Amino acid sequence: MTQIGTKCVQAGYRPQNGEPRQIPIIQSTTFRYESSAAMGKLFDLEASGYFYSRLQNPTADTVAAKICELEGGTAAMLTSSGQAANFFAVFNICSAGDHVVASSAIYGGTFNLFAVTMKRMGIEFTFVKPDCSDEELEAAFRPNTKAVFGETVANPALAVLDIERFAQVAHSHGVPLIIDNTFPTPVNCRPFEWGADIVTHSTTKYMDGHGSQVGGAIVDSGKFDWTAQSEKFPGLTTPDASYHGIVYTEKFGQGGAFITKCVAQLMRDFGASPAPMNAFLLNFGLESLHLRMKRHCENAQKVAEFLESRQEVAWVNYAGLKSSPYYELAQKYMPNGTCGVVSFGLVGGRDAAEVFMSKLQIAQIATHVADARTCVLHPANATHRQLSEAELEACGVGADLIRLSCGIEDADDLIADLAQALETK
Ligand SMILES: *Cc1c(COP(=O)(O)O)cnc(C)c1O
Repeated sequence: MTQIGTKCVQAGYRPQNGEPRQIPIIQSTTFRYESSAAMGKLFDLEASGYFYSRLQNPTADTVAAKICELEGGTAAMLTSSGQAANFFAVFNICSAGDHVVASSAIYGGTFNLFAVTMKRMGIEFTFVKPDCSDEELEAAFRPNTKAVFGETVANPALAVLDIERFAQVAHSHGVPLIIDNTFPTPVNCRPFEWGADIVTHSTTKYMDGHGSQVGGAIVDSGKFDWTAQSEKFPGLTTPDASYHGIVYTEKFGQGGAFITKCVAQLMRDFGASPAPMNAFLLNFGLESLHLRMKRHCENAQKVAEFLESRQEVAWVNYAGLKSSPYYELAQKYMPNGTCGVVSFGLVGGRDAAEVFMSKLQIAQIATHVADARTCVLHPANATHRQLSEAELEACGVGADLIRLSCGIEDADDLIADLAQALETK
């Protein structure tokens, strides 16, 4: 199994003789053992197996194994949301007093998690523009920096990160690069091939693709040598008193330490575990991910070109357009397309956006993105409505910005819908 489409359909689950072809939903909180001694081994991390679904569940692990293969990693886990995935990925290697360098072009929920909530936990973040100069990037590092974080294609700014460049700088400072790969999915970009060390996902978006479950995933490339930077990552390289003094890097190796620690400590203590049924639904989505991503990108490209041709449209932002400042980076990292999300502004600005959106018939107003059904959002009047015009500009979401998430309908219908909404007064 070498191709991404085959992996989308088949990876992660291999039924044995007579076993169900579809992945079993193990809707059980707990698992039975013949002796306390047998169970004790699990609690000591001496044996692998299931004992309580807050930590691990077979259905979730089957789907995590598929995502692991799609990304080309060594270990993976599911979480109950993308928010939990990003929190865990960073908190697994940072404690109070530590520091992280993050791209400023990231999902609003992640920005809030970092800049407000994790700051209250004593972890500081320095935000840099994804297209900052090398000097600016270097200057963001401190002696206590433990990670660099960015999004392959930022939601909603749609900036494309130069993963290779960020990975090189992170590694020169002895820290890993964590990439949120939600928008392109591993079908369009595999950040590990460009030097990223940890990948996260909101599986709520394209991976599910049908708006049926909220979920997240974390994947380890197995390439980052924690022991080479032992003093920076004591949580992975020194004894864990809560598991009889095991050392994760010694016991689970470079490819297993990060995810095992994340499950054993963070799932145990925070319990952001996915429901088995949600993992099952996510797997449905994954089985057609390669087909859907192709269609999302084709539709978005046609829609972006159409919008760019219209005089009512002031600007269009889509990395598949030659006019995009991210066109070259997108060609390098995502030659088959980035994602289905296009942003644009109308000549009439904020007010025109509202009138236009109310006329749309096929594209429906929703906070969701990356769904089979086309949806549209005006952040300044919805998710970002508490911000002033100046604050909106500062976070790269202008008052006129319309975020259009192209679904997998027929492009002609999407374009006709946009045309009639632009034309009717
Ligand atoms: C939606 C999103 C998240 C948060 O994921 P949830 O599943 O909503 O918790 C994180 N990162 C990106 C890029 C997203 O689009």
